[in-house]
Amino acid sequence: MLLVACYAVTTASPYASPVTRRSFLAALAGLVGLGAWWAGQTRPSADGPAEVPATSGLDVVRQATDTTLATEPPSLETPVIEVISRSGWGAAPPTGQGVRHTIERLTIHHTAGSQSAISLVPQRIRDYQAAHMGNDWPDIAYHFLIDRDGNVYEGRSIDLAGDTSTDYDPTGHFVPAMEGDFSVERPSATQVNSLVALLAWAGQEFGVSADEVRGHRDFASTACPGDLAYGMLDEIRVRVKQLMGDVSLRVLSDQESLDRVAAVER
Ligand SMILES: [Zn+2]
Repeated sequence: MLLVACYAVTTASPYASPVTRRSFLAALAGLVGLGAWWAGQTRPSADGPAEVPATSGLDVVRQATDTTLATEPPSLETPVIEVISRSGWGAAPPTGQGVRHTIERLTIHHTAGSQSAISLVPQRIRDYQAAHMGNDWPDIAYHFLIDRDGNVYEGRSIDLAGDTSTDYDPTGHFVPAMEGDFSVERPSATQVNSLVALLAWAGQEFGVSADEVRGHRDFASTACPGDLAYGMLDEIRVRVKQLMGDVSLRVLSDQESLDRVAAVER
């Protein structure tokens, strides 16, 4: 079975970046052996001691299956991360003022809430946002959230630093969060694919090396992003490095985002 990355084409958006084309094989190679896990509860918990999951959202990389058993490499498309817009998942408008920053680090988080039925994800993201804003934060803490099906949700403006209840300053950190508690469950392969694409996009967008990919626990006293995700960091860095320069990101239109969320909730 060959996997072919298929992505939509990017249109003008604040996130648009040049579409490039390169082999996606290396990135796909990293997927083998990763399983998908479902489990769980519906608790919007925080990432670590107080960092609630925030959303970020790119509905990343979607793969189609090429049913032919070709002996040649499949034609590989440029990866385009499709992001479910804030309006699509029903975000509340931000309040107050955020801290403007320049992204210099790529820091992985988990939401620390065990994965639940995929249909509940949009509601969980709204719950996360409400919880975060209940901390007097201006918005959901994370720049993007990735669900276990690889959907990517737009979170806080990437121009603004995230928020945390842990002891580090998130200024300068690009903070995507994968939904799940990876102290007890594994991120799905699709989820990691989206994360890799998102990190590669951020790296190329802000001129940050894949060597700067870290876990939250590298900066603060927290289990985040959980042993089962943290243990993948070396692999993730390699894949990010391979993909960097080739990724585009497109925030879906309002209607596309609503349609995508409806499909998730179905
Ligand atoms: Zn974290």
